Amino acid sequence: MLFQNKSKAALNHIDQQMSALYSEKRFSQTLSILNDLGRKLIGSDRCSFWCVDSKTGTNWTVEAHNVEKIVIPQGSGLVGYAIDHNETLIVNKPYKDERFNSEVDKETGYKTKSILVMPVTNSKNQVIGAYQAVNKLHGKFKQSDVKSLMLPAVMMGKILELQMLYNSAVEDQLTGLKNRRGFYDFYEAYIASNDSEKHCVIMCDIDFFKKFNDTYGHNAGDAVLRHVANIFNSNIRVDDGVFRWGGEEFIFLLPHTDIDTAAELAEKLRKSIEDSVCRFEDLELRVTMSFGVHTISPELNVEENVKAADEKLYSAKENGRNQVQK
Ligand code: GH3
Ligand code: MG
Ligand code: MG
Repeated sequence: MLFQNKSKAALNHIDQQMSALYSEKRFSQTLSILNDLGRKLIGSDRCSFWCVDSKTGTNWTVEAHNVEKIVIPQGSGLVGYAIDHNETLIVNKPYKDERFNSEVDKETGYKTKSILVMPVTNSKNQVIGAYQAVNKLHGKFKQSDVKSLMLPAVMMGKILELQMLYNSAVEDQLTGLKNRRGFYDFYEAYIASNDSEKHCVIMCDIDFFKKFNDTYGHNAGDAVLRHVANIFNSNIRVDDGVFRWGGEEFIFLLPHTDIDTAAELAEKLRKSIEDSVCRFEDLELRVTMSFGVHTISPELNVEENVKAADEKLYSAKENGRNQVQK
């Protein structure tokens, strides 16, 4: 009877979360729904999914209940151990386990009493993340909880793998920025779908880059492209998108931004680039860039809006380069 009730409750949880999942398209929301499913299925206080970021050498949670994004170095804590050893862990006295990293508790003010960590692999059998349940509400974590977590954990792995494949398809290899395909996806998702708001686009291009390459060589040119990409990344706001349009041309999409704010950002970027030095081998390299800023018009399609920004960029070039035109 008890078993029947438990199975019924589990099926109910699955039904509920699956109908939420059916219509949800956003990556972080999807993970959040699956975290909730795991939490309900095994009766734990929290569930979170940790993603492996091999580029930065960190593991980070996409969503932990009521807690902001947490980033930990790879190999650290029980999560790090489970990921590095591809091993499921059940630890009911974490403070007595030397692998446990109590720093996260210190940061969040939360007291961990029990933990279950389950690594998740991709189709090449590489560990890409880990599903973690914290604080069993009644009793201790058991082997049967691992079984109950299989469904959300397997789904998380598949979704994360898809997301990683997507990310690599829209990444420009040289600069690490998103490429032109990423630009169109971003435009579709955040600009075209919300035409009651003001959005801006900035197009920019390195000045006299052909001559620069001829003078310093193509490798120095590549270093400069990476250098400006880093400046862009550290100056944009979280909701902005920056993309390599092609060659030495870059494009920004700034949702919910008026033309003056966009032009201020462009000016800030222009100045940062002008003032910065790119060190390559024993050279100290300097470049300048020209910028065109345009308010996206809902009456125009994406190509026409890009063309309008490109025309502004052209006048910046005509007018003497190293400047912003709006
Ligand atoms: P302007 O100020 O009018 O933009 O002049 P420009 O010389 O920058 O413009 P042009 O379009 O004539 O030349 C662009 C140069 O950018 C040509 C090409 O060698 C260089 N370039 C394009 N992509 C890359 C790349 O990936 N790496 C390097 N190193 N150079 C590139
Ligand atoms: Mg150029
Ligand atoms: Mg160009």
